[in-house]
Amino acid sequence: METQILDGKQIAAELREEIRLAVETCQKEGFRPGLGVLLVGDDPASRSYVTAKEKACDAAGILSREVKLPATASKEEILAEVDRFNASEDINGILVQLPLPDSSIEEEVLNRILPEKDVDGFHPVNVGRMMLGLPAYLPCTPHGILHMLKRGGIEAKGKHVVVVGRSNIVGRPLANLLSQKSELGNATVTMCHTGTPDIAAFTKEADIVVAAVGRPEVVTADMIRDGAVVIDVGVNRVPDDSKKSGFRLVGDCEYAAMLGKASAITPVPGGVGPMTIAMLLFNTVEAAKRQAAS
Ligand code: NAP
Repeated sequence: METQILDGKQIAAELREEIRLAVETCQKEGFRPGLGVLLVGDDPASRSYVTAKEKACDAAGILSREVKLPATASKEEILAEVDRFNASEDINGILVQLPLPDSSIEEEVLNRILPEKDVDGFHPVNVGRMMLGLPAYLPCTPHGILHMLKRGGIEAKGKHVVVVGRSNIVGRPLANLLSQKSELGNATVTMCHTGTPDIAAFTKEADIVVAAVGRPEVVTADMIRDGAVVIDVGVNRVPDDSKKSGFRLVGDCEYAAMLGKASAITPVPGGVGPMTIAMLLFNTVEAAKRQAAS
């Protein structure tokens, strides 16, 4: 079987071009969407994610304003920056790059973002609205996966989707969105996690398998059925002496062994990751439009 490669870079580039045109329209109407980015500490992976997001904003014509605080910043200093972004008229969306050096304050910091500026879709108000099927800022990775399926010509409707992983930013919201009675949902969804004794028993029955686990290649080719669609969210660094960096990126799925068995699959890198950034831009433009209209 020929496996369709779901090229996230290509699909995201198309989306980003549409977003760029939407930003042009906003500017003609007298406003420019703006994203406030808060980075705390010097984690290299967080730095590179923030740089990628800011570059994507620039290319789309979205204003991005970064505030960087040292790893030693107090909770009060971090909350004060969130408050500044909340109050700024130029800033329509706010991104606090996770993880924070002190992960115990993440919930309080995220909850401080005004729900109408919560373009990551992590605020309880947006999570609750999403759960109820009300208009909300959808979390970027699950939202990106829905668009990727749509643009890849894959309907979730009527299919059995098995989502491995139940985090609040990927697995759980994705399972919720796919199970909703909606254009991109209407699937039958099973969610697996560390409490599932035999994950393969479920994945082998799935039309679509989504892996959001964070463990290199834990979903093996013998765990999927012939013709399954595989969405690999995981991004894992594994040591590789042949690389200058000393590591390479692999997903949660056994990509090479699934080629020829899966009907479609996302690569890592270049699959879900670029879609996540595109949806952040999408939400920022949505936020700007809603704030301009209110
Ligand atoms: P997370 O918060 O660590 O959640 C991982 C989930 O997988 C948990 O629900 C955990 O179960 C489950 N799990 C862990 N080991 C398992 C195993 N051996 N068998 C079955 N389930 C297992 O991770 P996350 O934030 O969802 O991220 C998952 C992966 O996606 C990571 O590699 C992350 O880097 C990547 N990611 C990529 C993007 C992107 O844009 N490409 C965005 C977000 C995340 P329990 O709940 O039982 O502990």
